[in-house]
Amino acid sequence: MSNLNPKIKLNKKENINIDKIYSGLLQGDRFSLGKAITLIESTKPTHKEMTKKLISECLKTQKDTLRIGITGAPGVGKSSLLEKLGMYIIEKGFKPAVLAIDPSSNISGGSILGDKTRMPELSMSENAFIRPSPAGKNLGGVAKKTNESIIAVECAGFNPIFVETVGVGQSETAVHSMTDLFILLIQPGAGDDIQGIKRGIMEMADIIVVNKADGENIINAEKTFNQYSGIISLLPEKESGWKTKIMMISALTGNGVKELWQIITEYENNAKTTGYYRKNRKNQNLSLFNEYLFNNLIEIFNTDPNLNSLYTETKKKVETGLMSYYDAGDFLLKLLTK
Ligand code: GDP
Repeated sequence: MSNLNPKIKLNKKENINIDKIYSGLLQGDRFSLGKAITLIESTKPTHKEMTKKLISECLKTQKDTLRIGITGAPGVGKSSLLEKLGMYIIEKGFKPAVLAIDPSSNISGGSILGDKTRMPELSMSENAFIRPSPAGKNLGGVAKKTNESIIAVECAGFNPIFVETVGVGQSETAVHSMTDLFILLIQPGAGDDIQGIKRGIMEMADIIVVNKADGENIINAEKTFNQYSGIISLLPEKESGWKTKIMMISALTGNGVKELWQIITEYENNAKTTGYYRKNRKNQNLSLFNEYLFNNLIEIFNTDPNLNSLYTETKKKVETGLMSYYDAGDFLLKLLTK
């Protein structure tokens, strides 16, 4: 049976048993994992509380996994590459997971990343877990939910975790903020354009992969490789000390997949020895904490009956320019600390 199971429903009448889901996760049970992620993605307040309990349990068993962000325009070959790379590392004894964030699903109404046929072999493997997550309307919320899904997936023994996103919108920044390593996939071009890839995304990339370097594409792939080699040599040094690497690959023939895994391993070893891995994870945890605190602070003003009308009035004053945003903010914060 395929493990690509985005539609595990949480039965309304069913008593959701967090302890049962958790022990399922500890045993690497993919059905429990599917349930856990459905719970994480649910917007129901009761489910949110259960998610908190589950994630707290999972955090107790955290391991030093590798979280890999992978981005690129639709059609560049992300799923083909993950299929090949995933199968390659399964042979080496790894259990990879792919969490795919699809920011387009709320625009097109369909899901680019949700197609089961995208990774046919990997999705049938007992040793892999694939899960598309439509980003819905709230890309901001994606970071938190995907981060919780990552924790659940890791609790179930999967490693590495690939977080895939289509190269549109802000999803790259979200994915970058929750991974240890970021891969940008590009395609062979005539060498005189930069495929509309924003500089910011290039700066985030630790590895740039020119895919489809096969057949007649090879000449163009080399041109693109040379062009991007020039661009990355001009980018500022990364906080991790790692210099962005660029390589050519063919997800079709599998050429270069082994080398890509070597570079990923080199990056991991490097980040773990220099201490960057820990430092980055600590910063990411802190950002999630601050975001949680901030969102809940706003929530207090939205829901507290005494504060809500004042909040609404003050917001109007800010909108119309009657009050500066900082005076308005200070006024409301003072009410909280009284
Ligand atoms: P994604 O949208 O980024 O996930 O791209 P896909 O993996 O679905 O690939 C899009 C198309 O490009 C498919 O028709 C693939 O067969 C093709 N493709 C992917 N990788 C390669 C490659 O390395 N070489 C060639 N020639 N075609 C490829």
